[in-house]
Amino acid sequence: MSNVILVTGGRGLVGKAIEHIINTEPEGSRFGKKPGETWIFIGSADGDLRDVEQAKKVFEKYKPTHVIHLAALVGGLFKNMKYKLTFLRDNILINDNVLHTSYEQKAQKVISCLSTCVFPDKVEYPLDETKIHSGLPHESNFGYAHAKRLVDVQNHAYKEQYGSNFTSAIPTNVFGPYDNFDLEDSHVIPGLIHKCYLAKKNGTPFVVSGTGKPLRQFIYSYDLAKLFIWMLREYDDVEPVILSVGENEEVSIKEVADAIVRAVGFDGNYTFDTARADGQFRKPASNEKLLKLIGGFQFTPFELALTETVKWFVANYENARTGKKPSA
Ligand code: NAP
Ligand code: GDP
Repeated sequence: MSNVILVTGGRGLVGKAIEHIINTEPEGSRFGKKPGETWIFIGSADGDLRDVEQAKKVFEKYKPTHVIHLAALVGGLFKNMKYKLTFLRDNILINDNVLHTSYEQKAQKVISCLSTCVFPDKVEYPLDETKIHSGLPHESNFGYAHAKRLVDVQNHAYKEQYGSNFTSAIPTNVFGPYDNFDLEDSHVIPGLIHKCYLAKKNGTPFVVSGTGKPLRQFIYSYDLAKLFIWMLREYDDVEPVILSVGENEEVSIKEVADAIVRAVGFDGNYTFDTARADGQFRKPASNEKLLKLIGGFQFTPFELALTETVKWFVANYENARTGKKPSA
């Protein structure tokens, strides 16, 4: 049977990781390419998915039977705080266009990507799949969070009205090769890797934003890629699945900074800029549903994954996404 799997946002951190896994796992294996599958990875240059006509054109061109929908306006804490309306509007438009075009063009299955950022700020921990709508999200990212929550609402509405097989994945903070290593707009790990790299190279201070006390759960993009491939093949239910390491594997931002210092080989001191925001203090999520369904999964240890990511960044410094390159 021939399946065409269209990955929107296929040129970003998660999309490139799925491409890597599909191309490197043994063909026919659980996470490898199956006979008859064609995988298409698209980025914004292939069509601006905020525009319905461009979305339709892309779908008409590739006629996907399956869609992994990753395309989104994405950014770390500081970018989310600056552009709340843009995060809300762009992501609503992208998601609505992708879901409705998938429906119109009869895609058999769509997996969209949410985030543990979408959960309520004030909620009983650990987060689980039943708690998405049970309170307001943290104010730092309410634009992004509300847009992403709507995807879950839409998935249920498509199922009830049309019987569509639309679902969503909820990853925790992701990192790995091909990330956005911008110094200001990126997530914490790529941002700090870039800052630490420059501090070592130029003998300049390495400054970590905030107090270093907030806790995060991180998943390596190559592990996440396998979990998306598993969902595509083996999970058919509208309810989302949290894709995460265990809830006991939270890491503080200070521990992240320490691990980056080791991986980069930076031997200076570093400081915290406590005038900058900490964002949400923690958002521990349970992976119980995932582990029950997948039957066990080997996550890459955090420090190993971080070392691989630093190696990738150093080897690809000239081409890595960094926004505007500093003139150092
Ligand atoms: P990313 O590296 O910024 O990649 C985003 C992708 O979306 C890129 O391929 C980008 O295209 C595409 N895109 C953005 N705007 C678009 C538009 N208007 N039309 C078409 N394509 C557009 O982000 P990521 O980290 O891989 O995120 C992938 C998914 O995971 C997102 O849905 C995000 O919300 C979710 N997520 C990410 C994290 C995280 O920590 N990174 C955590 C939880 C969930 P170009 O490459 O051409 O720019
Ligand atoms: P969040 O999980 O959505 O808040 O996303 P981030 O990946 O942006 O992580 C934010 C946490 O890391 C906050 O506690 C920040 O104060 C802290 N942090 C420290 N340095 C940086 C940095 O250079 N960039 C970002 N984005 N966050 C940083």
